[in-house]
Amino acid sequence: MGNYNIHVATERCTGCLRCELACSDLYTKVFNPSVAMIRVTVSDADWDISFTDECNDCGVCVDHCFYDALEKSEKEQEK
Ligand code: SF4
Ligand code: SF4
Repeated sequence: MGNYNIHVATERCTGCLRCELACSDLYTKVFNPSVAMIRVTVSDADWDISFTDECNDCGVCVDHCFYDALEKSEKEQEK
């Protein structure tokens, strides 16, 4: 697993899909939101953000969100 806890603030999401594109590019070498491990969907004009079970918490999608809809914090190290 990765080093981060990922936090979402859906009210700031614009639906730009940069997060999905970054994840799919990194892990599948294609720009294809449908294979990303983060899922951004719309219902009743509100955006919803979720992660698949395969998400490894690497935090790369957070780094590509320009709108502060995603944030990350370092996981506490096991002692
Ligand atoms: S944390 Fe990493 S693996 Fe998970 S959705 Fe974001 S980029 Fe993909
Ligand atoms: S979470 Fe950020 S990068 Fe992803 S669609 Fe929403 S605004 Fe865009």
